[in-house]
Amino acid sequence: MCAIVGVYGAKNAAKIAYYALFAMQHRGQEATGISTANGDKIHLVKKRGLVTEVFDESSFEFLKGNCAIGHNRYSTAGADSVLDAQPVFAKYKLGEISVAHNGNLVNKYEVRNRLIERGAIFQTGMDTENIVHLIAKSQNDALVDRIKDMLSKIEGAYCLVIQSRSKMFVIRDRFGIRPLSLGRLKDGGWIVASETCAFDLVGAEFIRDVRPGEMLTFEEDREPFSEQIFEPDYHPCAFEYIYFSRPDSIIDGKNVYQTRVAMGKMLAKEAPADVDLVLPVPDSGVAAAKGYAEGLGIPFEMGIVRNHYVGRTFIEPTQEIRNLKVKLKLSPIKHLIEGKRIAIIDDSLVRGTTSKQIVKMLLEAGAKEIHMRIAAPEIKYPCRYGIDTPTQAELISSRYSVKEIAKKIGATTLGFLSIEGLIESLGTERTYSLVSFDGNYFAGGSAQSPGCSDI
Ligand code: 5GP
Ligand code: MG
Repeated sequence: MCAIVGVYGAKNAAKIAYYALFAMQHRGQEATGISTANGDKIHLVKKRGLVTEVFDESSFEFLKGNCAIGHNRYSTAGADSVLDAQPVFAKYKLGEISVAHNGNLVNKYEVRNRLIERGAIFQTGMDTENIVHLIAKSQNDALVDRIKDMLSKIEGAYCLVIQSRSKMFVIRDRFGIRPLSLGRLKDGGWIVASETCAFDLVGAEFIRDVRPGEMLTFEEDREPFSEQIFEPDYHPCAFEYIYFSRPDSIIDGKNVYQTRVAMGKMLAKEAPADVDLVLPVPDSGVAAAKGYAEGLGIPFEMGIVRNHYVGRTFIEPTQEIRNLKVKLKLSPIKHLIEGKRIAIIDDSLVRGTTSKQIVKMLLEAGAKEIHMRIAAPEIKYPCRYGIDTPTQAELISSRYSVKEIAKKIGATTLGFLSIEGLIESLGTERTYSLVSFDGNYFAGGSAQSPGCSDI
């Protein structure tokens, strides 16, 4: 996943980038970084940890310049090392460059191997390093042409902010898989960010989404300059709405919260349950549970309390810690639950860890029946475009039927939203990326990518 931000033409660019990253902390908690450019030098601060842990006042004394780019890391490609923080900075023939990337390149191994064959060395496992290498190796004179050259050799999901000492380039892949929006800062200057919730915090005005296949160039004394690099083949990721984005964000014209409520209502139609009470799995299931309860006319209660001082459970690598963390994180309100038939709503079922723990917790709290409902279809395929879904073998829905899973997690019944129901809740005016559910790998289906042979 990850979050990216780019600020251009603002006096306190680093501070604005900092607050934008703070608003988008949910998109990645592993590492964070900001680089700034002041015309003749790029400065960089990056480290493992949360935004509030990594930066302090001294960072902002160092991060000088009116252009800042930043990144919150959620490990997808690459291991969890300190080196794997972004932006990625390099010195090369034309000077200095810094790159932040959200997404996942599907031809990363092929590109990397070709670069290595030709003598390139890599310091990390991140596909972002491929991008820097491809720009540095390009034979074109101007940076903008080198960037275009690089773009012709990568494939998959990417939102990029690229910073030179005086310019900033912003690119969204032709599928528009990951979100990216453009805003205008109140005191002058521009901002691009993965989610519009960043604009709300820094007081920026939302202008529009960056178009699929578009490149925006920011330079001094000029309005942002737009070029359509690729023919759009729009496939925004459905998972941004289901789980990933913040409810207050507007992604490609749709508010995330309202979309989740619509999914819950659809789920009520497709998989109703005869229950006394509807509960969400907080926080990710709240909006869908509200829609589900409304759809059925059944009382809704926040019957499970979440401890907000525990990170997202996915972040921990091993199964034992993951199990413990669910308990640390969630706790039932017993007197609400005792003797009741409960529908419990979550946004998605991946490995089944959370659901199993929650069912156990509700049984221990005295629930009579537990009807688990998932406001997304069954996740059967790993995502190649930047959602950190595990291998197919770990995806519980790829191996077991709905009935079998219900038994495994101990629920009285289990129900999912259908793919058609999801599409209807999202709106049929565009084609969404539904790879986790239907396995349709529309981008880079084969390992062969155009232009890779002439690296
Ligand atoms: P499970 O416990 O079945 O493996 O995962 C389902 C839970 O993980 C749900 O509560 C859902 O909100 C959350 N979830 C789904 N996808 C992701 C993801 O990509 N990252 C994180 N951190 N959590 C996720
Ligand atoms: Mg959740």
